Formats: sequence, structure tokens, C-alpha cells
Amino acid sequence: MTLVPQTTDHVELTPALSAIPAASDPLLQRAYEPQPPSGPHAIRGLNHPHELALRGMPVMCSACGARRDWLLINRGRDVWIRCRCGNQWLEPEITRADYDAMIAIPDDTTYPSVERALLALGFDGSFTGAYLE
Ligand SMILES: [Zn+2]
Repeated sequence: MTLVPQTTDHVELTPALSAIPAASDPLLQRAYEPQPPSGPHAIRGLNHPHELALRGMPVMCSACGARRDWLLINRGRDVWIRCRCGNQWLEPEITRADYDAMIAIPDDTTYPSVERALLALGFDGSFTGAYLE
């Protein structure tokens, strides 16, 4: 296995919504429903390469036994934890406030869908069993 060294946890992605040209037709505009990056329905992904403890208990993937290298997905008030193997679960212990607090450097990275975020961040199952850091 080749381990790719990463120098930063920060993920740089061009917000996909900005790629949609502004439509002059009001019907088209309504169809796209562009959302501000900080809107309540924006999907945000946070790479958490280290172990994550909730109430003193380290998080472990029930599918593959991984103990770190998580993707935390926030949409609305819900936060999911996703493992490299593709296993994903809703984690009620993590609130949006907790999530916000974990973001050291706030950015406006948003994704048009969870699937796109997972692909972009390498959490689509391609790296099952691997820690990338
Ligand atoms: Zn796993």
C-alpha cells in the first residue's frame, strides 16, 4: 500500500454552485435554487484524520474496524461520520455547533450532493482499509 503524505487537512474545492451560470429566465433560476454556501441545507465535509472520541469513547467503524481518518458530513442539523470503507452513520452525539467548533479554518466549500463530496474527498469506498495519512 502506498501512503500518500498530506501536508494539510484542508480540502480545497471549487464550489460547484458557482459553476452554474446565472440564468436570466426566472423559471430557470428557480429550478437551480442556488443556495448560499452557509445556508442551512448546504452539505459540508470535514476531513478528520485523527481519532475522534465521543464522550470519552473512541469512534470505531463497525464495518472495517478503522479508528481514524473520518469524514464528517454536515447537512442542516445532522452530522454523519463516514469511513474510508464507505460505511456511514448518523452521529447524534455531534451537533452542528460541535461540527462548527471542529473547523479550525472556516471555508465555504460546499457540494451539490453528498455523492460528489464523497468522491472529491476519497470517501467513496476506493480506499477501503487505508489510512491516507
Ligand atoms: Zn470502515
